[in-house]
Order: sequence, then C-alpha cells, then structure tokens
Amino acid sequence: ASEMNASVEEKLVLLEGMRTALEPCLEERDGRCTGADCQFQLLYQPKVDLRTGQVFGVEALIRWNHPEHGLISPLRFIGLAEESGMIVPLGEWVLRTACFQTQAWRDAGLPPLAVSVNVSARQFEEKRLVERIADALRDSGLPPQALEVEVTESSIMRDLARSVEKMRELEAMGVALSIDDFGTGYSSLSALKSFPISRLKIDKSFVSDLADSLDDQAIAMAVISLGHKLNLRVIAEGVETEQQRDFLRANDCDEMQGYLFSRPVPPERIAEMLAASITLPESP
Ligand code: C2E
Ligand code: MG
Ligand code: MG
Ligand code: MG
Repeated sequence: ASEMNASVEEKLVLLEGMRTALEPCLEERDGRCTGADCQFQLLYQPKVDLRTGQVFGVEALIRWNHPEHGLISPLRFIGLAEESGMIVPLGEWVLRTACFQTQAWRDAGLPPLAVSVNVSARQFEEKRLVERIADALRDSGLPPQALEVEVTESSIMRDLARSVEKMRELEAMGVALSIDDFGTGYSSLSALKSFPISRLKIDKSFVSDLADSLDDQAIAMAVISLGHKLNLRVIAEGVETEQQRDFLRANDCDEMQGYLFSRPVPPERIAEMLAASITLPESP
C-alpha cells in the first residue's frame, strides 16, 4: 500500500508540475512560447522519401525539461496528461506551436515542409478538436495541406462511428491523417477501409529486428502491400540501420523516419538542414 501511495503521490506531484509548467505556455496564444521559463519544448524529426532521399516533412515530438527532474520522456507524462485531462490544453499548445513553427520555416523562404502532430485518444475524442485545429491553422497561416494528425488504431476504435465522422471533417478541411504505430493496436481491416487516411506508419517494434526476423520482414511487407492496395503511403518509423533502410526500400516502402537519418532535433537544426538542401539553380 505504501508503494501505491508513493506512486500516487509521485503522479500528483508530476501533475501539479505539469499544470505550473503549462501556464506560461497558454498565455502565448501564438505558440511562440520559447522563453527561458518554458519547460515544454517541441523537437522535430525529419521524414525522408525513400526514393528521392528528400526530407518532405517532420514529426513534432514533445519534451519536458523539468526544473528538478531534468528531461522527462513523453512516455512518462503523456499517459498522465491523458488520465487527468491535461492533454487537452497541452495538446493544443503542441498543435499551435507546431503550426506556427512550420509556417515560420516557410516564411524564412525554406523549402515547404509538412508537419505531423500526435493526437492521443482523449484529445481525439474531444468535441472541439476540429475547431482547435482550424483555429491553429488560421492563426498561424499554415495551409491545412501542410498539417497531418497522427492517431493510433486504439484511439479510433474507442468510438468507431464518431471517429470516422471526425476524420471526415478533417479530410474536408484538407488536413491529412495517419495511423501511428500501425500493427500494434486492434483495428479490423474492414474498419481500416473506411478511414479517410493518407498514410500508415509501421511501428518501430517491427523495424528494430528487420534484418534478422523473418516474422518482422513478413509483417513489414504485408503492411506495405496492404497500404498500397488501399492507396495509402507507408512510412516506417525507428529506422536505425542501413540494412533496415535497404530492406524497406527494396520492398517498396515509401518513406522512413529514424535515427539513421536524424534524431528529433530543435527547430533551428531543421532550418539548417533545409537551408543546406537548397541547391542554387545553374547559371545559364
Ligand atoms: P510515436 O508518435 O510513435 O513517436 C515515435 C517515437 O520513436 C519518438 O519517441 C521518437 O523519438 C522515437 N524514435 C524515432 N526514431 C527512432 C529510432 O530510430 N529508434 C528509436 N529507438 N526510437 C526512435 P518519443 O519522442 O519519446 O515519443 C514517444 C511517444 O510519445 C510518441 O510515439 C507519441 O506516442 C508520444 N508523444 C510524443 N510527443 C507527443 C505529443 O506532442 N502529443 C502526444 N499526444 N503524444 C506525444
Ligand atoms: Mg507519432
Ligand atoms: Mg509512431
Ligand atoms: Mg511508435
């Protein structure tokens, strides 16, 4: 029982910390909360086209720099934010920050990128989600086509009919949707057929042993062919080695994301990468 109390107390302390940390972020409605007092930060991981080698987009991934505990992984606090409902304001901050940042790269004259934002179950269920997304796009000036929402199968399956309705609203706005961690959750193939999505993300658990595991190879190939038959693009996450990349490329996977190309990095690094990728036109 004392163990349980400790963990409940730990949770409460973490929650209170989250509430405090979020306050200055929410005052900055334009999502430019990057002041020294801001404990939350977004890193961006490049997504690369496997055929051209070009970076076409980034995924926004949250970090929490806790004043006492140091860097806390989202795996430790997103669940808690979900349980407490704090994911709603926190998720809105993520959404707005990602939209403003992506538009800022565009304003700086860099090659236009798409940004994807993770939306967890409770956020996805929230009534005002579509409205919040529309507001973030309007306020930042980012075109809807440059935004992608990543949801998991389990979030969608919690209320399938309502989820499909919401996905259609996003589709109508021009916002893209992808299924994150595909293959780890439960979604029936007949449901998948009805989702207005544009991309499947092969979960990194199927990628890590790709070189050695025939089972994982079979799963990866099956997801790629299923995705293509449904007219979706397929991206593999967690690509760390050249063998993994080569296998995916040889099997017609469209895109990849992983430490092999880049870890999640601060926005300045993305700007540098993009600037370096600009090749000046040949002089006549
Ligand atoms: P995810 O959306 O599936 O994100 C992929 C995770 O894999 C990220 O972990 C990323 O840093 C990590 N990763 C990328 N490439 C590699 C690789 O080559 N090898 C390995 N081992 N890992 C790689 P991260 O940033 O710790 O995020 C973990 C999860 O937390 C995310 O999984 C997502 O579910 C959640 N999350 C992160 N940011 C947000 C957010 O802003 N909102 C919500 N709702 N959830 C978030
Ligand atoms: Mg994701
Ligand atoms: Mg993922
Ligand atoms: Mg994953």
